[in-house]
Amino acid sequence: MAKAQTFAEKVAKASAIRGVKCPQCGTVRIPLLYVASARSAKTGNWRFQGKRVQVCKCNEKEIYG
Ligand SMILES: [Zn+2]
Repeated sequence: MAKAQTFAEKVAKASAIRGVKCPQCGTVRIPLLYVASARSAKTGNWRFQGKRVQVCKCNEKEIYG
């Protein structure tokens, strides 16, 4: 029983590192660097803006298109 407990703790720790489960859809959220291109109004140059997002079933359609 002690071994089983240890294993369960290891699994819990591993899943904690991988991601947090979304309370709404139950899918593990995957951290993703979402890159959007935006044109600067001042210089006219294209810039890339990266932001970190947590992707789950709730917003995967928005992210992946
Ligand atoms: Zn979700």
